[in-house]
Amino acid sequence: MTSVSVVVPVYNEVENLPHLYAALDAVLSDLGRPYEIVLVDDGSDDGSLGVMEDYASRDAHVRIVEFRSNFGQTAAMAAGIQHATGDVVVTMDGDLQNDPTDIPMMLAKIDEGYDLVHGWRKNRQDTFVSRKLPSKCANWLISKVTGFPVHDLGCTLKAIRREVAQEIPLYGDMHRFIPILGGWRGAKCIEVVTKHHARRFGTSKYGISRTFRVVLDLITVKYLVSYLGSPMRLFGAIGLLCGGLGALSGLSTIWMKLVGGTDMTGNPLLLLAVFSTLLGVQFVVMGMLGELAARIYYGNSNREPFAVRRTVNLGLPLDTPPDEVRRAA
Ligand code: UDP
Ligand code: MG
Repeated sequence: MTSVSVVVPVYNEVENLPHLYAALDAVLSDLGRPYEIVLVDDGSDDGSLGVMEDYASRDAHVRIVEFRSNFGQTAAMAAGIQHATGDVVVTMDGDLQNDPTDIPMMLAKIDEGYDLVHGWRKNRQDTFVSRKLPSKCANWLISKVTGFPVHDLGCTLKAIRREVAQEIPLYGDMHRFIPILGGWRGAKCIEVVTKHHARRFGTSKYGISRTFRVVLDLITVKYLVSYLGSPMRLFGAIGLLCGGLGALSGLSTIWMKLVGGTDMTGNPLLLLAVFSTLLGVQFVVMGMLGELAARIYYGNSNREPFAVRRTVNLGLPLDTPPDEVRRAA
């Protein structure tokens, strides 16, 4: 029976916590699976931590990770995932905008064989102009650029196999790209429609400026997913293109001088030749640095440019007789 760790980042949600705990407790105790609730206190200063400690002292399912100060939602999720011990990690918001009653349905998808189930707030309860519209545009753009079919990356409610969750690199605001990063690491992903409620207590921690940051993050993710392993293919290609353009316009300048008698220093194409060649050299050098960075990235710690789902017969002594292999299987 797969066990479940529910990870919830909490930053000043004191009024929401009792409802959150009650809702989670109701759903999880009915699951019939071992579970834990990992609450990550992201430097709250409204007494949230005290409430969490109170639950933890009465219910051993509740575990707390307390940050020294506010490190942001992505960091809180990363810490919760790192400390989770269940087979499946379920992430959700602490403000009850996500509905814990969706959890059993998402776990069923994991049981079907998916590695990562992400929610789609089809009926999202937020303001239109400042939240829903920018989110729609951002999701459309991200889906087009990365080629990953997705409607709603912003939905925090997700169920992820722990080994997949723990190897997704989470920095900055990258928790929004978890499905794409998971897909990059070979996870079988599926989007399911989830419920969504308006915030009842407390205030949102984000404003409209988030949309612009998401667009910048998109460039990072696209680079990670497509070029991290071979930066020279991107920068080298641009460099060669610039170099080619430089050579072409340089030769044209000479040609125009020889044939038409056009003054070389007065010919704007000469400038283009110089700039393009310089740019070309710079891009190629950037590609070289990128290659070095990639080697450092994969070279240290245990990052691998591949992801293994399972192995068969590995570890058996080389002289194992065939009938023993059959018995072990
Ligand atoms: N959160 C956090 N640290 C932060 C900001 C937010 O842990 O610096 C938590 C917050 O308590 C909530 C979740 O992240 O549980 C989502 O935040 P919010 O509801 O403000 O985002 P929105 O739903 O408006 O996108
Ligand atoms: Mg919210």
